Amino acid sequence: DVGGPDGFAGELDGEFAGPGIGQPVVAVVGRPNVGKSTLVNRILGRRAAVVEDVPGVTRDRVAYDAVWSGRRFTLVDTGGWEPDATGLAAQVSEQARAALDTADAVLFIVDVVTGATDADEAVARVLHRCGLPVILVANKVDDVRFEADAAALWSLGLGEPHPVSALHGRGSGDLLDAVLAALPEAPREILTESDGPRRVALIGRPNVGKSSLLNKLAGSRRSLVHDVAGTTRDPVDELVTVGGEEWMFIDTAGLRRRVREASGAEYYSSLRTASALEAAEVAIVLLAADEPVTEQDQRVISMVVDAGRALVLAFNKWDLVDTDRRLTLEREIVRDLGRVAWAPRVNVSARTGRATDRLAPALRTALESWGTRIPTGRLNTWLGEVVAATPPPARGGRVPKVLFATQAGVRPPRFVVFTTGFLESSYRRFLERRLREDFGFAGSPISISVRVRE
Ligand code: GDP
Ligand code: GDP
Repeated sequence: DVGGPDGFAGELDGEFAGPGIGQPVVAVVGRPNVGKSTLVNRILGRRAAVVEDVPGVTRDRVAYDAVWSGRRFTLVDTGGWEPDATGLAAQVSEQARAALDTADAVLFIVDVVTGATDADEAVARVLHRCGLPVILVANKVDDVRFEADAAALWSLGLGEPHPVSALHGRGSGDLLDAVLAALPEAPREILTESDGPRRVALIGRPNVGKSSLLNKLAGSRRSLVHDVAGTTRDPVDELVTVGGEEWMFIDTAGLRRRVREASGAEYYSSLRTASALEAAEVAIVLLAADEPVTEQDQRVISMVVDAGRALVLAFNKWDLVDTDRRLTLEREIVRDLGRVAWAPRVNVSARTGRATDRLAPALRTALESWGTRIPTGRLNTWLGEVVAATPPPARGGRVPKVLFATQAGVRPPRFVVFTTGFLESSYRRFLERRLREDFGFAGSPISISVRVRE
C-alpha cells in the first residue's frame, strides 16, 4: 500500500498554471472511467481528486504535488482521453494531449476488467510516438485472478504492464518506484534563488523618479548584463547591489533610454512594464509621494497583481514631503491603496538617498512571502477553526460545507478550497484576509479558488 505520501492538490488554471515549478510532471492519461482519479487519490493518500462514476464526464485538468521516497513531482490528472471523441469528450481529449506537452513521463491507465479497447490502442500509438517514458498501468487488478489480464497488456507495445488496484492500493508502491525511475534526474529549468540574483522590475508611471532611483542605487558601478543583437546596444538588464546583495534589475535600458514618444507614450510604457514584469519575480512600484496616487499608478499596481508578482511600494521624492503632505498622503493611501495594504511600503528619496537601504529588506520579505508554502495539515487545521467560528453565508437556504483546502502552488501562493456549494466572493475575501492575518504573506498576492464537489 502507498501509505499516504503527503501531497498538495491544486488546479491548472489561468496563467500561473503548474504548481511546483521545476518539479517533474507526470501526466495521468487513459479513457474515462479506467480509474485515473482513484489512482491519483491513492498516490496522494487522500480523496482529493474528484471521482465520477459517470463515464465521459468532463473535468478540468487538475494538478497535484505528490511526494514518493522523498522525491516531489506533479501529477496531472487529464480527465480522460478518447482519440475519436466529439463534443465535450473531444475537449477533454484535447486537454489530455496538451498535458503531454508539459509532461516528463506518462502514466497510461488501462482497465483490465474491460481489457484494452480500440481507443486504448489508439492512445498507445500516440504515446509510442511522444518520446516520453510511458508507464503502463493495468488497473483494477483487485486480486491475483486478474494478473493474467494485466499481462495481456504487453500487446500494447508499451513495455511491462504494472498490475495495480487503485481502489485497494495493491501494487501502487511498486508502481511509484517505477514512476520515479522513469523521471529525469535533473530538475527541469527552474528559476530559484540558486539561479543567481533575484529579478526586480522597477516600474511606475513617467516622472516618478525611476531612472533617478536606479542611478542612485547603481551609482557608477554598473554591471551590464546582456545585449540583444540588432535591437539596441544598451544593456537590457543590470546587476545592482542593494543592501549588500546583488539584484538583477530588469530592462534598465528602458529606463535609461528615456524615449518619450509624443503619442502613445503610455501604451509603450505599459508594454515595457508588462515585459519587465514577465521576467521579474518582484516589482518595486515607484510612486511620487508629493502627488496624489493617480489612475496610472493604479494600473501599474494592477499589472503587478495580475501578473502574480511580489510587490513593494516605494514612495519617492520623500524630500518634498512635509508634515501636512504626510497626513494627506496617509489618508490617500488608506483610500486608494487599500487593496494592496499587504505590500511593504518604503519612503525613499532618489535625490538624497534617504531610506534606499530599506528597499532590500522589503524586497526580501516580499519574495519570501511569494514562495511560502503552508503545509496541508496546518492549512486545514486553520481552515477548520476559521470556518467553525465564521461559517459561510447560506445560499438558497443551504450553507455550503467547506471540506478541505490545499495550496496549489507558490510564486505566488495559490489555494484551492473544496466545498459542497458556491462560496460568495465576500466569503472568499474574508478567507484571504484571515489567511493574511494568520500567515502573513506581506508583499505577495495570493489567490483562493473554490472547487465545488457535488
Ligand atoms: P477516471 O474517469 O479514469 O478518473 O476513473 P475513476 O477514478 O473516476 O474511476 C472510475 C470507476 O472505477 C469508479 O467507480 C472507481 O471506484 C472504479 N475503480 C477505480 N479503480 C479501481 C480498482 O482498482 N478496482 C476496482 N474494482 N474499481 C476501480
Ligand atoms: P522616471 O520618468 O520615472 O524615470 O523619472 P526621473 O528619474 O526621470 O525623474 C523625474 C523627475 O523627478 C526628475 O526631474 C528628477 O530629478 C525628479 N526626481 C526624481 N527623484 C526625486 C526625488 O527623490 N526628489 C525630488 N525632489 N525629485 C526627484
